Amino acid sequence: MSDKGRLIVISGFSGAGKGTLMKELMRQYPEGYALSVSATTRQPRPGEQDGVDYFFVSREKFETMIAKEELVEYAQYVGNYYGTPKAYVEQQLSAGKNVILEIEIQGALKIKEKFPDAVLMFVTAPSAGVLHERLVGRGTETPEVVAARLSRACEESEGIENYDYLVVNDTVETATELIDHLICNQRSGDAERNEAYRVSSNIDFINEIRQELKSFSKGE
Ligand code: 5GP
Repeated sequence: MSDKGRLIVISGFSGAGKGTLMKELMRQYPEGYALSVSATTRQPRPGEQDGVDYFFVSREKFETMIAKEELVEYAQYVGNYYGTPKAYVEQQLSAGKNVILEIEIQGALKIKEKFPDAVLMFVTAPSAGVLHERLVGRGTETPEVVAARLSRACEESEGIENYDYLVVNDTVETATELIDHLICNQRSGDAERNEAYRVSSNIDFINEIRQELKSFSKGE
């Protein structure tokens, strides 16, 4: 492919199921996409593998990566650093792949600044109640971390208007297919087909989720 690939940013509330969607997207369309593996200072969850889920690094190592400008973007999230290594992204874009960055909102905004062509998608569960259940049900975080993540979700929900598309993760199959369609349409110049999924077409739903998240973070 002579065409340069696009950067696709996927953000979403903790518990929205982004990780599962990305794995499914890679499984179904291995030729079209490359999934960037981020560096982080957080501890691995059971089952997470270094170099596959993340590059798990110390704070010192992360700060060296920042100083050497080895990251496209980085941010702090609930007490840890997270960042996107530059070399892989540049290499895959040149090879014509759409490169997926599964990152939080501050990083997403930096990417949009540096790469105005990037497509920004926000993934949510069908309701804040479902998010809460998934976060608690996952059983990998302490109640304090669950609360901090919900409160962060509440803050992040204020920034959804910066994204191009909203993807509701009802089932993994439909959401994965939708993400692929949105990207293909955008890339082939058929973006008007995506109208119903634009953030601007879903403001009422977004406001409902915001309200629900607010009541959760107040402990209601
Ligand atoms: P988790 O700890 O649940 O794996 O990730 C926490 C948050 O950090 C998620 O919102 C995830 O999308 C985000 N994240 C993961 N990697 C990166 C990265 O490289 N850069 C930024 N800015 N955020 C990231």
